[in-house]
Amino acid sequence: MFISYCQHRHSTPNPKAPALWMQDVSASYEDVADRVALKNISLSVTRGSSTALVGPNGAGKSTLFKVAANLLKNSSGKVEIFGQPLGACHQRVVYLPQRSGIDWEFPLSVLDLVTTGRYVYLGWLRSLEKKDYDKAWEALKSLSIEDLAHRQIAQLSGGQQQRVLIARALAQDADLLLLDEPLNAVDVQTRHIVQRVLNEQKAQGKTTIVATHYFKQEEGLYDNAVYLKDGEICTAS
Ligand code: ADP
Ligand code: MG
Repeated sequence: MFISYCQHRHSTPNPKAPALWMQDVSASYEDVADRVALKNISLSVTRGSSTALVGPNGAGKSTLFKVAANLLKNSSGKVEIFGQPLGACHQRVVYLPQRSGIDWEFPLSVLDLVTTGRYVYLGWLRSLEKKDYDKAWEALKSLSIEDLAHRQIAQLSGGQQQRVLIARALAQDADLLLLDEPLNAVDVQTRHIVQRVLNEQKAQGKTTIVATHYFKQEEGLYDNAVYLKDGEICTAS
């Protein structure tokens, strides 16, 4: 018997709702619960748009993504993804963590890592199928790294690591992509490939939010920008 991984698998998203909507959202980390990492965030991200989430280190960019990806519980406020509460359609959201947050020494091949992007679709006791591998290869090709498929992730350069992480996110085939500093400290070739992939995602009607603290160099890449400072939304400085 097939047991669905997602209990709300058949929930119908509201076609007119924003991709991400937050109202008065605050969040903090358990070990420092007295300090709020996100304060009263209200925003609405139109579906199909590309948005830069701009702010210096410690501004709360990653925290906002973790709340939207349902990895960190907000302490107050409301969050909706495509008009539905968090968790209702978890396959439709993918969070690409910062490169520095990954253990690159872990014994895993590039293909293995990219196929983990398909795990959200696997039910209980189900294993990867041909279509999952097809999606993974498609993502590797899109990032021009198919020749790295069987390489251990410990042997990658910084730019290659970034492209592998993006391939993993693409393999999930989500509708809302939360990309955490994908353009930070990458080589020129990777930068161009990532920019091309962002444009392709947009052309496919996907919604992307990209965290960055180098917005000036990336201006023109996005439709909108949301500025964060000390956990709060602010205007451009
Ligand atoms: P950004 O991604 O913009 O650099 P973060 O969301 O990582 O900012 O951090 C926002 C605030 O939350 C900072 O004050 C940071 O020190 C704190 N913070 C982030 N991650 C953790 C964590 N895992 N545990 C405790 N505090 C954290
Ligand atoms: Mg961050």
